Amino acid sequence: VVENKHENQTNLDDIFISVKTSGKFHKTRLNVIIDTWFRDANQQTYFFTDTDDDGLSKKTDGHMVNTMCNSSHIRRDLSCKLGAEYDFYIKSNKRWWCHFDDDNYVNVDQLVMLLRDYDHNMDFYIGKPSLNYPFTTTFKGEKVGFWFATGGAGVCISKALAQRMKPWCSNGGLYRTSEHLNAPDDCTLGFVVSNRLAVELTSSNLLHSHLETLGQLNPATLTEQVTLSYGLDNRNNIIQLQESSHNLPISKDPTRFRSLHCKRKPDTCSRVHRTKS
Ligand code: UDP
Ligand code: MN
Repeated sequence: VVENKHENQTNLDDIFISVKTSGKFHKTRLNVIIDTWFRDANQQTYFFTDTDDDGLSKKTDGHMVNTMCNSSHIRRDLSCKLGAEYDFYIKSNKRWWCHFDDDNYVNVDQLVMLLRDYDHNMDFYIGKPSLNYPFTTTFKGEKVGFWFATGGAGVCISKALAQRMKPWCSNGGLYRTSEHLNAPDDCTLGFVVSNRLAVELTSSNLLHSHLETLGQLNPATLTEQVTLSYGLDNRNNIIQLQESSHNLPISKDPTRFRSLHCKRKPDTCSRVHRTKS
Protein backbone atom coordinates (compact mmCIF):
# COMPACT_ATOMS: atom_id res chain seq x y z
CA VAL A 1 0.00 0.00 0.00
CA VAL A 2 1.40 3.38 -0.98
CA GLU A 3 0.65 5.91 1.69
CA ASN A 4 -0.40 9.29 0.48
CA LYS A 5 1.19 11.72 2.87
CA HIS A 6 -1.02 14.63 1.88
CA GLU A 7 -4.25 12.74 2.21
CA ASN A 8 -3.46 12.37 5.87
CA GLN A 9 -2.26 15.91 6.46
CA THR A 10 -4.24 18.10 8.82
CA ASN A 11 -6.14 20.79 6.97
CA LEU A 12 -8.24 23.71 8.11
CA ASP A 13 -11.39 21.66 7.95
CA ASP A 14 -9.96 19.24 10.50
CA ILE A 15 -10.06 21.97 13.13
CA PHE A 16 -13.01 23.14 15.22
CA ILE A 17 -12.46 26.72 16.37
CA SER A 18 -14.47 28.11 19.27
CA VAL A 19 -14.36 31.73 20.41
CA LYS A 20 -15.69 32.67 23.81
CA THR A 21 -17.58 35.94 23.88
CA SER A 22 -20.40 37.75 25.64
CA GLY A 23 -23.25 40.00 24.55
CA LYS A 24 -21.45 43.03 25.93
CA PHE A 25 -18.56 42.42 23.51
CA HIS A 26 -20.50 41.74 20.32
CA LYS A 27 -20.10 45.31 19.10
CA THR A 28 -16.73 46.14 20.55
CA ARG A 29 -14.78 42.94 19.94
CA LEU A 30 -16.49 40.76 17.33
CA ASN A 31 -16.63 43.18 14.42
CA VAL A 32 -12.87 43.36 14.06
CA ILE A 33 -12.66 39.56 14.16
CA ILE A 34 -15.40 39.12 11.60
CA ASP A 35 -13.74 41.65 9.30
CA THR A 36 -10.35 39.98 9.57
CA TRP A 37 -9.42 36.41 10.51
CA PHE A 38 -12.93 34.97 10.77
CA ARG A 39 -13.07 35.19 6.97
CA ASP A 40 -10.19 32.75 6.74
CA ALA A 41 -12.05 30.10 8.74
CA ASN A 42 -15.72 31.04 8.57
CA GLN A 43 -16.83 27.42 8.14
CA GLN A 44 -14.78 26.20 11.09
CA THR A 45 -15.29 28.99 13.62
CA TYR A 46 -18.18 29.37 16.10
CA PHE A 47 -18.76 32.12 18.66
CA PHE A 48 -20.03 31.00 22.06
CA THR A 49 -22.01 33.74 23.70
CA ASP A 50 -24.78 34.39 26.19
CA THR A 51 -27.42 36.21 24.19
CA ASP A 52 -29.18 36.07 20.84
CA ASP A 53 -27.96 38.47 18.18
CA ASP A 54 -29.76 38.25 14.87
CA GLY A 55 -27.44 40.68 13.15
CA LEU A 56 -24.33 38.71 14.03
CA SER A 57 -26.05 35.42 13.33
CA LYS A 58 -26.68 36.63 9.81
CA LYS A 59 -23.17 38.00 9.40
CA THR A 60 -21.59 34.73 10.53
CA ASP A 61 -24.02 32.48 8.67
CA GLY A 62 -25.44 31.07 11.88
CA HIS A 63 -22.16 30.57 13.70
CA MET A 64 -23.31 32.24 16.92
CA VAL A 65 -24.11 29.79 19.71
CA ASN A 66 -26.20 31.05 22.60
CA THR A 67 -24.91 28.88 25.42
CA MET A 68 -27.65 30.08 27.80
CA CYS A 69 -24.84 30.56 30.32
CA ASN A 70 -25.08 33.66 32.47
CA SER A 71 -23.26 36.70 31.19
CA SER A 72 -20.78 37.52 33.90
CA HIS A 73 -17.06 37.28 34.32
CA ILE A 74 -17.34 35.00 37.31
CA ARG A 75 -15.78 31.56 37.23
CA ARG A 76 -19.02 29.67 37.03
CA ASP A 77 -20.28 31.42 33.91
CA LEU A 78 -17.00 31.26 32.04
CA SER A 79 -16.69 27.54 32.78
CA CYS A 80 -20.24 27.06 31.60
CA LYS A 81 -19.23 28.58 28.26
CA LEU A 82 -16.01 26.60 27.86
CA GLY A 83 -18.04 23.48 28.68
CA ALA A 84 -20.44 24.36 25.87
CA GLU A 85 -17.47 24.79 23.51
CA TYR A 86 -16.17 21.37 24.48
CA ASP A 87 -19.53 19.66 24.05
CA PHE A 88 -20.01 21.29 20.66
CA TYR A 89 -16.53 20.24 19.58
CA ILE A 90 -17.12 16.62 20.55
CA LYS A 91 -20.13 16.54 18.27
CA SER A 92 -18.04 17.92 15.39
CA ASN A 93 -15.83 14.84 15.39
CA LYS A 94 -12.88 16.88 14.09
CA ARG A 95 -9.19 16.19 14.67
CA TRP A 96 -8.58 19.29 16.76
CA TRP A 97 -10.37 21.63 19.11
CA CYS A 98 -8.91 25.13 19.39
CA HIS A 99 -10.32 27.66 21.84
CA PHE A 100 -9.69 31.40 21.61
CA ASP A 101 -10.91 34.48 23.43
CA ASP A 102 -12.68 37.29 21.60
CA ASP A 103 -9.64 39.54 21.99
CA ASN A 104 -7.44 37.17 20.00
CA TYR A 105 -6.20 37.56 16.44
CA VAL A 106 -5.76 34.12 14.93
CA ASN A 107 -3.41 33.60 12.03
CA VAL A 108 -5.38 30.72 10.57
CA ASP A 109 -2.69 29.66 8.09
CA GLN A 110 -0.11 29.48 10.85
CA LEU A 111 -2.53 27.60 13.09
CA VAL A 112 -2.89 24.88 10.48
CA MET A 113 0.88 24.73 10.09
CA LEU A 114 1.34 24.41 13.85
CA LEU A 115 -1.11 21.53 14.17
CA ARG A 116 0.44 19.67 11.24
CA ASP A 117 3.41 19.01 13.50
CA TYR A 118 1.29 16.93 15.89
CA ASP A 119 -0.69 13.70 15.61
CA HIS A 120 -4.35 14.14 16.54
CA ASN A 121 -4.50 10.43 17.38
CA MET A 122 -2.15 11.06 20.28
CA ASP A 123 -2.76 13.18 23.37
CA PHE A 124 -1.86 16.81 22.77
CA TYR A 125 -2.62 19.92 24.81
CA ILE A 126 -0.93 22.84 23.10
CA GLY A 127 -0.83 26.27 24.68
CA LYS A 128 1.12 28.96 26.46
CA PRO A 129 1.88 28.08 30.10
CA SER A 130 0.08 30.50 32.38
CA LEU A 131 2.67 30.41 35.17
CA ASN A 132 6.29 29.28 35.22
CA TYR A 133 5.55 26.85 38.03
CA PRO A 134 2.72 24.36 38.64
CA PHE A 135 -0.53 25.75 40.01
CA THR A 136 -1.55 24.12 43.30
CA THR A 137 -4.96 23.82 44.92
CA THR A 138 -7.26 21.15 46.33
CA PHE A 139 -9.75 18.98 44.50
CA LYS A 140 -12.32 17.26 46.69
CA GLY A 141 -9.92 17.44 49.62
CA GLU A 142 -6.93 16.15 47.64
CA LYS A 143 -3.86 18.36 47.15
CA VAL A 144 -3.20 18.77 43.44
CA GLY A 145 -0.57 20.56 41.35
CA PHE A 146 -0.52 20.97 37.60
CA TRP A 147 0.48 23.16 34.66
CA PHE A 148 -2.15 24.95 32.62
CA ALA A 149 -2.30 27.06 29.49
CA THR A 150 -3.70 30.60 29.42
CA GLY A 151 -7.10 30.51 27.71
CA GLY A 152 -6.53 34.04 26.43
CA ALA A 153 -3.53 32.94 24.37
CA GLY A 154 -5.43 30.14 22.64
CA VAL A 155 -5.38 26.43 23.41
CA CYS A 156 -5.59 23.41 21.10
CA ILE A 157 -6.50 19.87 22.13
CA SER A 158 -6.25 16.75 19.98
CA LYS A 159 -9.22 14.51 19.36
CA ALA A 160 -7.64 11.58 21.18
CA LEU A 161 -7.14 13.69 24.29
CA ALA A 162 -10.55 15.36 24.09
CA GLN A 163 -12.17 11.93 24.10
CA ARG A 164 -10.30 10.94 27.23
CA MET A 165 -11.42 14.16 28.97
CA LYS A 166 -15.07 13.16 28.83
CA PRO A 167 -15.43 11.95 32.45
CA TRP A 168 -14.57 15.47 33.68
CA CYS A 169 -15.86 17.58 30.83
CA SER A 170 -18.79 16.20 28.86
CA ASN A 171 -22.40 17.32 29.17
CA GLY A 172 -21.66 20.25 31.41
CA GLY A 173 -18.99 18.33 33.29
CA LEU A 174 -16.38 21.01 32.77
CA TYR A 175 -18.55 23.39 34.72
CA ARG A 176 -18.94 20.95 37.61
CA THR A 177 -15.22 20.14 37.65
CA SER A 178 -14.38 23.83 37.79
CA GLU A 179 -16.75 24.24 40.75
CA HIS A 180 -15.00 21.42 42.62
CA LEU A 181 -11.61 22.85 41.77
CA ASN A 182 -12.67 26.38 42.62
CA ALA A 183 -10.60 27.57 39.69
CA PRO A 184 -11.13 29.36 36.36
CA ASP A 185 -12.08 27.59 33.16
CA ASP A 186 -8.63 27.47 31.55
CA CYS A 187 -7.13 26.28 34.80
CA THR A 188 -9.75 23.52 34.99
CA LEU A 189 -8.81 22.37 31.50
CA GLY A 190 -5.21 22.10 32.68
CA PHE A 191 -6.28 20.14 35.74
CA VAL A 192 -8.17 17.58 33.68
CA VAL A 193 -5.40 17.21 31.11
CA SER A 194 -2.20 17.45 33.08
CA ASN A 195 -3.33 16.20 36.48
CA ARG A 196 -6.13 13.67 35.94
CA LEU A 197 -4.83 12.39 32.61
CA ALA A 198 -1.11 13.06 33.16
CA VAL A 199 -0.65 14.60 29.73
CA GLU A 200 2.05 17.24 29.60
CA LEU A 201 1.31 20.70 28.27
CA THR A 202 3.04 21.25 24.94
CA SER A 203 4.25 24.82 25.12
CA SER A 204 4.16 26.98 22.01
CA ASN A 205 5.81 30.37 21.88
CA LEU A 206 3.65 31.34 18.91
CA LEU A 207 0.63 31.96 21.15
CA HIS A 208 0.21 35.32 22.89
CA SER A 209 -2.28 36.74 25.36
CA HIS A 210 -2.39 40.27 26.74
CA LEU A 211 -0.71 39.00 29.90
CA GLU A 212 2.46 39.57 27.88
CA THR A 213 3.79 42.97 26.94
CA LEU A 214 2.73 42.65 23.32
CA GLY A 215 4.74 45.66 22.19
CA GLN A 216 7.89 43.69 22.95
CA LEU A 217 7.23 41.13 20.22
CA ASN A 218 9.61 41.61 17.32
CA PRO A 219 7.56 43.47 14.68
CA ALA A 220 9.23 41.48 11.91
CA THR A 221 7.84 38.22 13.35
CA LEU A 222 4.24 39.27 13.91
CA THR A 223 2.96 37.61 10.75
CA GLU A 224 4.44 34.30 11.93
CA GLN A 225 2.65 34.25 15.29
CA VAL A 226 -0.37 31.97 15.63
CA THR A 227 -2.26 34.21 18.04
CA LEU A 228 -2.01 37.80 19.23
CA SER A 229 -4.16 39.87 21.54
CA TYR A 230 -4.60 43.34 22.97
CA GLY A 231 -5.45 45.02 26.24
CA LEU A 232 -6.96 48.44 25.83
CA ASP A 233 -8.49 49.06 29.25
CA ASN A 234 -5.84 50.84 31.27
CA ARG A 235 -2.40 50.51 29.73
CA ASN A 236 -2.44 50.32 25.97
CA ASN A 237 -1.01 46.85 25.50
CA ILE A 238 -0.89 46.40 21.75
CA ILE A 239 1.41 44.87 19.16
CA GLN A 240 3.95 47.19 17.60
CA LEU A 241 3.67 46.97 13.82
CA GLN A 242 6.46 47.64 11.37
CA GLU A 243 6.15 50.93 9.51
CA SER A 244 3.93 50.25 6.52
CA SER A 245 1.51 51.88 4.14
CA HIS A 246 -0.90 49.15 5.22
CA ASN A 247 -1.17 50.59 8.70
CA LEU A 248 -4.25 52.47 9.78
CA PRO A 249 -3.92 55.13 12.47
CA ILE A 250 -4.42 53.87 16.02
CA SER A 251 -7.69 55.81 16.22
CA LYS A 252 -9.12 53.76 13.35
CA ASP A 253 -7.52 50.48 14.37
CA PRO A 254 -6.93 50.47 18.12
CA THR A 255 -6.38 46.68 18.27
CA ARG A 256 -3.95 46.84 15.26
CA PHE A 257 -5.61 43.67 13.92
CA ARG A 258 -6.95 45.37 10.78
CA SER A 259 -3.54 46.72 9.84
CA LEU A 260 -1.86 43.39 10.51
CA HIS A 261 -4.44 41.48 8.52
CA CYS A 262 -4.13 43.86 5.60
CA LYS A 263 -0.37 43.44 5.66
CA ARG A 264 -0.72 39.66 5.63
CA LYS A 265 -3.39 39.66 2.94
CA PRO A 266 -3.16 42.84 0.83
CA ASP A 267 -6.19 41.85 -1.23
CA THR A 268 -8.32 42.35 1.90
CA CYS A 269 -7.09 45.86 2.64
CA SER A 270 -9.91 47.79 1.04
CA ARG A 271 -12.50 45.88 3.04
CA VAL A 272 -10.52 45.77 6.26
CA HIS A 273 -9.80 49.50 6.05
CA ARG A 274 -13.26 50.58 5.01
CA THR A 275 -15.08 49.13 8.01
CA LYS A 276 -15.04 51.02 11.24
CA SER A 277 -13.72 49.31 14.37
N1 UDP B 1 -16.05 36.93 28.95
C1 UDP B 1 -17.33 36.41 29.10
N2 UDP B 1 -18.16 36.99 30.01
C2 UDP B 1 -17.78 38.04 30.76
C3 UDP B 1 -16.48 38.56 30.61
C4 UDP B 1 -15.63 37.96 29.70
O1 UDP B 1 -17.69 35.46 28.42
O2 UDP B 1 -18.56 38.50 31.57
C5 UDP B 1 -15.14 36.31 27.98
C6 UDP B 1 -14.61 37.34 27.01
O3 UDP B 1 -15.49 37.46 25.92
C7 UDP B 1 -13.27 36.77 26.64
C8 UDP B 1 -12.84 36.04 27.91
O4 UDP B 1 -14.04 35.80 28.65
O5 UDP B 1 -13.36 35.85 25.58
C9 UDP B 1 -11.85 36.84 28.74
O6 UDP B 1 -12.45 38.07 29.07
P1 UDP B 1 -11.62 39.44 29.06
O7 UDP B 1 -10.73 39.49 27.87
O8 UDP B 1 -12.61 40.56 29.19
O9 UDP B 1 -10.81 39.39 30.43
P2 UDP B 1 -9.39 38.75 30.77
O10 UDP B 1 -9.71 37.55 31.59
O11 UDP B 1 -8.68 38.44 29.51
O12 UDP B 1 -8.71 39.83 31.54
MN1 MN C 1 -8.76 39.22 27.53
